[in-house]
Amino acid sequence: MPGPIDLHTHSSVSDGTETPAELIAAAVDAGLSTVALTDHDSTAGWKDALVAASGTGLTVIPGMELSTNHGPASVHMLAYLFDALDGGIIAETAQIRDGRLHRAERIVEKISADYDITWDDVLAESSDGSTLGRPHIADALVRKGVVATRSAAFETILHWRGGYYEKYYAPSPLEGVRMIVRAGGVPVLAHPATHGRYRPMDDAFIGQLADEGLFGLEVGHRDNTDEGKERLLVLAKRFGLEVTGSSDYHGEGKPNRLAENTTSPDVLEKLITRATGSTPFRG
Ligand code: AMP
Ligand code: FE
Ligand code: FE
Ligand code: ZN
Repeated sequence: MPGPIDLHTHSSVSDGTETPAELIAAAVDAGLSTVALTDHDSTAGWKDALVAASGTGLTVIPGMELSTNHGPASVHMLAYLFDALDGGIIAETAQIRDGRLHRAERIVEKISADYDITWDDVLAESSDGSTLGRPHIADALVRKGVVATRSAAFETILHWRGGYYEKYYAPSPLEGVRMIVRAGGVPVLAHPATHGRYRPMDDAFIGQLADEGLFGLEVGHRDNTDEGKERLLVLAKRFGLEVTGSSDYHGEGKPNRLAENTTSPDVLEKLITRATGSTPFRG
């Protein structure tokens, strides 16, 4: 079916505000031909998304946004069409989600010294077993009337320089690429140019990731700077990487709208050809 291809979205399995089924309905409403579900560090939404897509004509690419740490920087890596039952993926993502849970508890403990918020308030904002993050803490702060919106929370209390920030365990980007490739998946660096002049990954390091099997760079993303996008296009050419674009839709949790950035059909075709871990679901 013709229509835009959007390869980066979140459901309530992580920090999106819509269930996987609601997200699929939104993708159909937006006229997408293909959507990838890429919840943070979890594949728990795959089944519901596929069930919801049945009979709609929408193609679903099962995916995930893997957390990695490169020195002090948190680097997000999109992973597509890997085997969700791969032992390495299962063990590592379980460890990351557990680390995120305890990290969120530590953040809330610090915030609660200054603001009226409890751990139960945060749990009330997340669905059972979901990948916890600062967005759920933000929602609790909004509900308590401490801040007006998720974004306001991120600009103040939840900002990494806001005084309450904590890191969480994640593998290195190199380990991330290897793990995804071993599971038959296709890795793409998510929004790699969001930091202005600060570059958490230098050119040579991106070349090393390419050598290990990185497939592409998410150039089309609203948080990438213009200058950063130009650099990414040069690096893509130099290292033979594909270029993707996507919305990073979080439902009402972020202003990002479905298909505000898209990926070309020929890049999607190459991605599908590269994958051996799972196949697209053609609803
Ligand atoms: P965490 O994973 O806990 O470090 O939180 C980062 C997540 O929060 C990212 O995946 C974003 O999707 C989300 N996020 C970052 N900034 C904002 C914002 N201004 N409004 C809503 N969500 C945000
Ligand atoms: Fe997110
Ligand atoms: Fe991300
Ligand atoms: Zn994302």
